[in-house]
Amino acid sequence: MKTIEHFVGGKLFSGDSNRTSKVFNPATGEQTAKVKLASTKDVNQVVANAKKAFENWANKPPLQRARVMFKFKELIEKNSDELTKIIVSEHGKVYEDAKGSLTRGLEVVEYACGIPQMLKGEFTENVGSSVDSWSIRQPLGVCAGITPFNFPAMVPMWMFPMAIACGNTFVLKPSEKDPSCSMRLAELLKDAGLPDGVFNIVNGDKEAVDALISNKDVVAMSFVGSTPIAKYIYENCAKNEKRVQALGGAKNHCVVMPDCDLDQAVNGLMGAAYGSAGERCMAQSVAVAVGGIGDKLVESLAKKVEALKVGPGMDKLSEMGPLVTKEHLAKVKGYVDIGEKEGAKLIVDGRNFKLQGYENGYYIGGCLFDHVKKDMRIYKEEIFGPVLSVVRAKDFDEALQLVNDHEFGNGVSIFTRDGDTGRTFSNKAKIGMVGINIPIPVPMAFHSFGGWKRSLFGDQHMHGPEGVRFYTKLKTITSRWPTGLRSDPEFVMPTMK
Ligand code: NAD
Repeated sequence: MKTIEHFVGGKLFSGDSNRTSKVFNPATGEQTAKVKLASTKDVNQVVANAKKAFENWANKPPLQRARVMFKFKELIEKNSDELTKIIVSEHGKVYEDAKGSLTRGLEVVEYACGIPQMLKGEFTENVGSSVDSWSIRQPLGVCAGITPFNFPAMVPMWMFPMAIACGNTFVLKPSEKDPSCSMRLAELLKDAGLPDGVFNIVNGDKEAVDALISNKDVVAMSFVGSTPIAKYIYENCAKNEKRVQALGGAKNHCVVMPDCDLDQAVNGLMGAAYGSAGERCMAQSVAVAVGGIGDKLVESLAKKVEALKVGPGMDKLSEMGPLVTKEHLAKVKGYVDIGEKEGAKLIVDGRNFKLQGYENGYYIGGCLFDHVKKDMRIYKEEIFGPVLSVVRAKDFDEALQLVNDHEFGNGVSIFTRDGDTGRTFSNKAKIGMVGINIPIPVPMAFHSFGGWKRSLFGDQHMHGPEGVRFYTKLKTITSRWPTGLRSDPEFVMPTMK
């Protein structure tokens, strides 16, 4: 059985701990590897390595750091088939979807290639007589990232290309459910010429996370995962005086207006609710049918959900793969049971889905509920599976209220043919990312990604301009070079004359 180690100082590192966790192929239910779970001592050793590498890397001209990113980009492209297959084998999502997620990560690397331009700073000549002032952004030190299972390439790549390009060193703690893609990316970074110790991986669970939080040499923490853990990370990093951004869970609504192009809305919802088996933080799990469109919407959705092709991620015909683990499958099925008990109308029931030859895989068919009410658990909680809830709203205002009252605020979209409705909605929605006739409004790498409310704890979103701000600190220098000028001490607040 393969053992997945840590990656430290440019090479594999076994560490002290003998604890491991099992890694499975969700399509077959077979165990494919075991991954090391680091001890506090292991983590401290990794951080010490990253700290040692910091000064040299921080002092490299940004152009040299950018050149490593250019090379890394080439290597990802060259190895994209292999990386994609690794994602499919441990996460379960279908090949083309996995490839798309890798591309979205690659785009952050492309953005990071422009780091010299982004670190240029600002200069004012003569802020006062013969006094100049300029502001620069400097790297922080050792930054850490903790990532979820659902995007084993993309989410780590929201973080480390930006952190490294800004001159920091980085310790990544990937999800213990699918760590192999990160390990391969670490090798590619080394091949791209990244000095040893700049990018490190420590595999592990809560113990490793807690060790990263309490280690004083880790100065900034980026987290993506579920809301309870995001809140825990935010609070404890703040207590330990770290800069922190902690992205949490979601319950994304899609508002379907009566004037919309229904085919577009239905197709958009199908991809957004059932793509990646609903295991996306931008998945749409609630459709809000406004006015009289509910019956037609549910009828069209039901036909398509019943026809969904569920199968292993490597099968070209599969539209939806299995869920990530047996435990997660049981949790998602449990939510469908709860929805029925709560009185929602189960229109399509995927719980008994079975696939010949793959009886041990973690499959579930698409599920569709109608007449879901806002006090039901299936409406309030994140299910993170292929379960779409249709809620009826009498008008636009009621739909907007639902969106704004929900505790999560990651993404939302509206389908309408009316520009005024679309504009008002985007203006009033208390949500971080809004789509108008776009079902999954994930910002491109040169914008930034992040939600509102309990979908993000902290002030800054990820990658794009916010990424540069998060991974650097601002310094402003004011200088003059007086020749022969002798002035008396000044005891009043200096003002520029
Ligand atoms: P998770 O919160 O269980 O795990 C995330 C990370 O935290 C993992 O690396 C895990 O090892 C670690 N962790 C788990 N329990 C911990 C604990 N008690 N103490 C310390 N660390 C712990 O999330 P997941 O199941 O891997 O991922 C799914 C979740 O991530 C969903 O809620 C999804 O919405 C969210 N997500 C959010 C975004 C976003 O951008 N907002 C993006 C992707 C995923």
